[in-house]
Amino acid sequence: MSPPSPETAPAAAKGPLPYGRQEISKADITAVVDVLTSDWLTTGPTVVRFEQKLAQQVGAREGVAVCNGTAALHAAMDAARVRPADEVVVPAMTFAATANAVLYQGGRPVFVDVDPDTLLIDPEAVARSLTSRTKAIVAVDYAGQPCDYEALRSIASDHGVPLIADACHSLGGSDRGRKVGTLADLTAFSFHPVKPITTGEGGMVVTDDAVMATRMRAFRNHGITSDHRQRTENGTFRYAMELLGYNYRLTDLQSALGISQLDRLDAWTERRRAIAERYREAFAQVKGIKMLTERPDVQHAYHLVVIQVDVEEYGVDRDALHATLRQAGISANVHYLPVHLHPYYREQLGTGPGLCPVAEAAYERILSLPVYPAMTDADVDRVVLHIRKGMRGA
Ligand SMILES: *Cc1c(COP(=O)(O)O)cnc(C)c1O
Repeated sequence: MSPPSPETAPAAAKGPLPYGRQEISKADITAVVDVLTSDWLTTGPTVVRFEQKLAQQVGAREGVAVCNGTAALHAAMDAARVRPADEVVVPAMTFAATANAVLYQGGRPVFVDVDPDTLLIDPEAVARSLTSRTKAIVAVDYAGQPCDYEALRSIASDHGVPLIADACHSLGGSDRGRKVGTLADLTAFSFHPVKPITTGEGGMVVTDDAVMATRMRAFRNHGITSDHRQRTENGTFRYAMELLGYNYRLTDLQSALGISQLDRLDAWTERRRAIAERYREAFAQVKGIKMLTERPDVQHAYHLVVIQVDVEEYGVDRDALHATLRQAGISANVHYLPVHLHPYYREQLGTGPGLCPVAEAAYERILSLPVYPAMTDADVDRVVLHIRKGMRGA
C-alpha cells in the first residue's frame, strides 16, 4: 500500500524525517474554518458530534471530549473514584502523564513491570500488586498494541475495581475484532499531533457506563452539571457546581478537525501497519536489531515502531545509533524513561532502580523509529540503510 496522495497533504514534511507527524488535508481546513464562522466556538454542537462519531466508530456508548489525553486520564481517575491514599496500578513503561493523573487525585501509583518482548503490562505482576487499597488498574497500549485485556479484565473484576485503558497510542487497534475503546471500562485517547488522529491538543474518554460519562462531563466543566449551551437553550442562568472539576473543555474548532480526521483513521492505521511490516522484514536480516513482538490476533495500531538494540550483536549501543541517525537527518526517539526513575517520583515516592527491572533494562536498548501515514517506502528504506550502516564493522 502506498501513502496517501500528496494533494491531500498541503504541507509535506520538510527537513529531517520526524519520528511522527500529523497529516492535515484541505477537507480538515475547510471543516475548521466552517466552525470558526458559526455560533459556537466551544461547548457547541460540533463537540457532541465528535464524541458521538468517535464513540460509534470504536463501538462504545459514550464519548466525553476533553482538552488533552492527560485530562482524559485525570477524568477517568475521578470517574473511577480514586481518592487520596488510594492505590492505582500502572505500568512502569509509559509516559509520565499516566501516573501523574493518579497523583492529581491524591492517589499513589503502584508501578508494575512489563513483558520483555512487548513492553506491555504483565498481568501476573498486576495480580501480585493488588492490595485492599487498590482502586483501579491502568493498562497502557504501548506503541499502539492492545494489552492482554482478557487477563486484565478478569483480574480487575475479581478485585472489584475498574480497568482503565491508556489508549493514547492505540486508536485504530483491535484484539480479535474487538476495537480499542471496548476492551476496558474506561478508555482514554489523546489527539496530540503525533498520535493516531489529531485535534492539535485534545483527548476523549469512551465508556459504556452512562453514570461515569455524566460525571466526567461535569468534571471537565468545573464540576457544573449544565453547560453554557444547555442553559442558553433552556433560557436559564442558574447552575450548580456539584463536584470539584476543572476547565478541561475541548473547543468546537478542535472537534471539527477531529471529525474530519476520523474519516482517514482506518487508511492511516493500514499504512502504519504496512510501514511496520516493511521494517520488520528488513530487520530480520540485521543482527542485533529486534522489533517488539506482536501478540497473536491483535491489530497493532503502530503509533510507534520500537526496536531493541542488542549492543553485543549489533556492536554499538542505542545512544550511538541514535546519534548516527541524527547525523543522517533521521529523528529517532526514546519512549520512555520508566516513570519511577524520574527525579520527581524518586523524591516524592522514594522509587528507584530495581523496582521494575524489565522496563529499566529495556530503556537502555529501545529506539522509536519514524512512522506516520505520509512516510514513503523509500523513507523506510533510508532509515533501514542507515541502521545497517551504523553497525560496527559495516
Ligand atoms: C500522549 C500520551 C498521554 C498524554 O496525552 P496528551 O494529549 O499529550 O496530554 C498519556 N499517555 C500516553 C501513553 C501518551 O502517549
